[in-house]
Amino acid sequence: MRPSTALLSITAGGLGVLALWWHDTPPIRGAGEWLTNAGRITGLLAGYVVVIALLLMARIPAIEHGLGTVRLTRWHSMAGRYLVSLAVAHTLLIIWGYALSAHQNLVGQTGILLLSYPDVLMATVALGLFVGIAVISARAARRRLRYETWYHLHFYTYLAIALSFAHQFATGADFMGNPPARLLWSALYIGAAAAVVWYRFATPIRQMFRHRLRVARVVDEAPGIFSVYLVGRHLHELAAEPGQFFRWRFLSRGQWWQSHPYSLSAPPRGSLLRITVKSLGDHSTSLRHIRLGTPVLASGPFGALTPALRRARKVLLLAGGIGITPLRALFEAMPAHPGEITLVYRASSPREAVFKAELDQIARRRGAVIHYLFGPAGSPADPLVGTRLARLIPDLRSHDVYLCGPPGMVSAALAALRRARVPRSRIHTEAFEF
Ligand SMILES: Cc1cc2nc3c(=O)[nH]c(=O)nc-3n(C[C@H](O)[C@H](O)[C@H](O)COP(=O)(O)OP(=O)(O)OC[C@H]3O[C@@H](n4cnc5c(N)ncnc54)[C@H](O)[C@@H]3O)c2cc1C
Repeated sequence: MRPSTALLSITAGGLGVLALWWHDTPPIRGAGEWLTNAGRITGLLAGYVVVIALLLMARIPAIEHGLGTVRLTRWHSMAGRYLVSLAVAHTLLIIWGYALSAHQNLVGQTGILLLSYPDVLMATVALGLFVGIAVISARAARRRLRYETWYHLHFYTYLAIALSFAHQFATGADFMGNPPARLLWSALYIGAAAAVVWYRFATPIRQMFRHRLRVARVVDEAPGIFSVYLVGRHLHELAAEPGQFFRWRFLSRGQWWQSHPYSLSAPPRGSLLRITVKSLGDHSTSLRHIRLGTPVLASGPFGALTPALRRARKVLLLAGGIGITPLRALFEAMPAHPGEITLVYRASSPREAVFKAELDQIARRRGAVIHYLFGPAGSPADPLVGTRLARLIPDLRSHDVYLCGPPGMVSAALAALRRARVPRSRIHTEAFEF
C-alpha cells in the first residue's frame, strides 16, 4: 500500500465518521447542545483513531512494506497524540455540555456521569491508561525507560481499548438508535483486533513451525560486533528482500520473552539467514553467547528499504556504523550495472568497520565504488559536515540515496543531502531506534 493511498483511506474513513454524526444529528440549539455535539464528534473521531493506531501496529505485510518502519512509527505516535487529545477534549466537552443543559455545576455533572453509567466509569479508567501511555511515550520520559519496560507498558493500550469500547454503544447517541452503524463500528473493531491477533501473534508461531529456524553459527566481525547465522527450511517462502529486517525471539532461557529487530546483513541464501549485531545493551550483548541450535521465532520480514524504492539509475548507499547491515545486503543484491552503485561507509574508526573484505570483494565483482570515511562524528573531517558529501559524489542529486545509521548520523546525513538539494522523495531511510 502506497503512503498516499493509506492517507486517502484514513481521511475517507474520518469523513465517513463525520457523515455518521451529521446523519444522526437534529438541529442544534443552545450552548449546551453545541458543546455536547462537539463532544460527540471528538468522541467518534477518537474511537476511529484507535482503530487506525491498531492497524498501523498490527504488522500487516502490505502496510509494513508500503509505509516502511520510519513512517509507520511516526504515524503511529501521531495517532497516539491525536487519540489522547481527542479523548480528553471529548470528556471535557461532554461534561461541560451536559452541565449547561442540565443547569448543573461541572463537579456535580462529572459525579452524575461517573456514578450513573458504569460504562462511563470504565471509559474514564481507559482515558487514564491512554494518558499514562502517552506520558511514558513522550521523548523525554521514553529515554529514561528501558525499551522492554516501555514496550510491555504499551500492552495496557489493549486493556484501555477494551474498557472504552462498551460506553460507545451504551451512551453514544450515534449508535444507540442506529443498528447498521453499530454493526459497521463493531466490524471495524473486530477486523482490527483480528489483524493484531493474526499478524502479531499467530503468524510468527505458524512461521516457527514451518521454517524451524535455529542458530547455526556465531562469528565475531569486530570488537563488540558479531554475526549470527540461522538455518531453516522453506525460507524462500518468507520472500525476504535485502534491506529488510525481522523481529527475532531467541527461545533460550532469559531471552525468550523479548524480541528485537535486526536487519539481514546478507541476502537470504538457500536455507541460511545472517544478522549482524552490535553489543549495545543486555540483549545484544548476551546474544554473543547464544547456544548453537537454539530455536528462533522470527516475525517478518518487515521494512521498505528494498530495491523496489529505487527510481534513479544511480544509487548511493550511505551507512553509519552498524547501519551498514541492511546496506551490506543491498550492496550485494541491488540490481545494477557497473558504475551505478556507490557505498559510503562512515565509522568512527577502521576497527569499527565490519565486512571490509566482503565489501571490497562485492565492489570488485560488481564494478561498484566504496568510500570508507573514518573519524569521530562532527569533527572537521566529518564527511557529513558542510558540502563534503557533495564534493565526494559530484552528481549526488541524480542518485537514489539509501541511508541507515544511528539517529545522530541519520540527521547529519539528511542535512547534508538537503544542502546538496537531493529531492526528499529520493532519500530512503531506516532508523535503528524505536
Ligand atoms: C528496524 C531496525 C533494524 C535494526 N537492525 C539492527 C542490526 O542489523 N544490527 C544491530 O546491531 N542493531 C540493529 N537494530 C538495533 C537493535 O534492535 C538494538 O540495538 C537492540 O534491540 C538493542 O537491544 P539491547 O537489549 O541490547 O539494548 P538496550 O540497552 O535495551 O537498548 C539499546 C537501545 O536500542 C533500542 N532498542 C532496544 N530494544 C529495541 C527493540 N526491541 N526494538 C527497537 N529498538 C530497540 C533502544 O533505542 C535502546 O535505547 C535495529 C533496530 C531497528 C529498529
